[in-house]
Amino acid sequence: MIVAIIDGYTDEPAGLGVPPYLGIYPRYAYGALKKAGKDVSIFYLTIDDLRFTFEGEHGIKTKNKTPNVFETRKILEKADLIVYIGGLHTPGKYLSAVPSQVEEVSKFIKPFKGIKILGGPAFMGSAHEGGTKIGSKELALANQIFDHIVYGDLEAFLYDFITNPADADPFRFRTYKELRDYAILGAEIVKQFPDYPVVEIESQRGCPKAAGIGGCSFCTEPLRYRKVEDRPVEDIVKEVEILYTLGVRHFRVGRQSCIFSYMAKPDGRVPIPNPDALEKLFMGIRNVAPHVKTLHVDNANPAVIANYPKESIRIAKALIRYGTPGNVVAFGLESADPKVARLNNLNATAEETYEAVKILNEIGAKRGYNGMPWLLPGINILFGLPGETRKTYELTYEFLKRILDDGLLLRRINIRQVVVFPNTPLWHMREKVKTEKHKTLTKHYKYKIRHEIDFPMLKRLVPVGTVLRYVRAEIYDNGLTYGRQMGSYPLIVGIPKEVELNRFYDVMIVGHGFRSITGIPLPIDINREHSKVLSYIPGIGRKRLIKILARRPFRDKEVFLNMIEDKKSREMLRDKIITP
Ligand code: SF4
Repeated sequence: MIVAIIDGYTDEPAGLGVPPYLGIYPRYAYGALKKAGKDVSIFYLTIDDLRFTFEGEHGIKTKNKTPNVFETRKILEKADLIVYIGGLHTPGKYLSAVPSQVEEVSKFIKPFKGIKILGGPAFMGSAHEGGTKIGSKELALANQIFDHIVYGDLEAFLYDFITNPADADPFRFRTYKELRDYAILGAEIVKQFPDYPVVEIESQRGCPKAAGIGGCSFCTEPLRYRKVEDRPVEDIVKEVEILYTLGVRHFRVGRQSCIFSYMAKPDGRVPIPNPDALEKLFMGIRNVAPHVKTLHVDNANPAVIANYPKESIRIAKALIRYGTPGNVVAFGLESADPKVARLNNLNATAEETYEAVKILNEIGAKRGYNGMPWLLPGINILFGLPGETRKTYELTYEFLKRILDDGLLLRRINIRQVVVFPNTPLWHMREKVKTEKHKTLTKHYKYKIRHEIDFPMLKRLVPVGTVLRYVRAEIYDNGLTYGRQMGSYPLIVGIPKEVELNRFYDVMIVGHGFRSITGIPLPIDINREHSKVLSYIPGIGRKRLIKILARRPFRDKEVFLNMIEDKKSREMLRDKIITP
């Protein structure tokens, strides 16, 4: 049997599968198919392979991938089974890979005769931008194109479908016991992944807060997983070990609603954290993957950290001890307005979130060896929720301003507009959603936050002269190269020239945007570097640049340094320039 797995990329509240991330769904699907049948040949394709094959180069954003058009078509022609994985629930800005929708993939796969299966969160619909209401259109189209739509776990369905098709139930969920073999066998799919993967590792499903007092009004996680299940330490460590043996060096233990609640004891709104379990988990990972280059996490509930500071400090220290710098935990504050928080059953108050930001700063703000602080919080803000008024925006702004004024660090502020998914509590309040009504307010405050909070925060986070290491060049745009470090919420770095893609660079930060930074690759060859790049160096103005260009080549770097008047800039450059 020939199976084509098409990865349409997934982005959910508690899970990411957009390259360079390799999500859980394709891996588990591959593993379940492997376990089900010895004579199954499985081909992993990405939506970019299909875009390239059927629409040509203009269909894809990445210029660094050259999928084999002939192979892709041939695989789809021969495939007995075509499994599409997709679903975009928390749309963001993507650098080099853009998630797909049912509508897009349908037009590519419709002519092929293989049995078509839809898996992942796509059955709930996809949102390419905030402020949308997801209707049943996507599902209706999916019903026309796909022979089976899987509402439960894709891997459970695929295993049953191969071994006992008559009994395959698209609503069935697997247990962690059942997952064990799928995860181990599925690791092998990384060999077909056309990129350096950051592998997303599952640690928990369901949401402890939602299990205690119900989910946040907008969230899809509790709809799919009503109970909280923690994945056993041994299973996670085993999966990491196999992936590591296959060459994976970048991991995010990210498929969870709150890493601080891993193996926590349920206790209503705020579960009691379990630092011993986290210590065991991360120590175990580090033992089997000693030379890991990225070990990060994703979400955390600030209420857990604020209410259990002692336990949370132990957990944060373990994340630093075994993890790698640049680690970020995203706090879902969503709104600093207590009225909105109550009405939408949000997980933490503004006071709790502030407290959690402070605690993480005390433990994690120190800069690590890759140039980024070890462990910082991020804040998620959601505009458009029911109950929102003009005052809500002001309260949220004031909350962020307080963090800035108190000298604390945030890695990122993620502002989204709410998306209404069917069957969420928000669906039943959909008439009260304010995305349309508050469009102007949203625009105004987004601008204000970007200019007055993000910009100075970014300057504090990575001041001019900071060296960020291992920045991977990903795409060209307008004479610039954009890249980022591997990991959780990496900063986008614009390099003011075209450098070879898919290589890692150390860059010195020379400028700040609102959400990205400008960096120049090190070391700086002052005799050969392009004048445009030199012009970005702090302390070199237009006039000085002309003098420097006229004076090249420099035999002695001191001669060059003496041309820079500003002492601070001179000292900053001393170990970053070369005169070959
Ligand atoms: S805390 Fe709220 S947003 Fe986060 S997973 Fe739970 S229900 Fe969803």
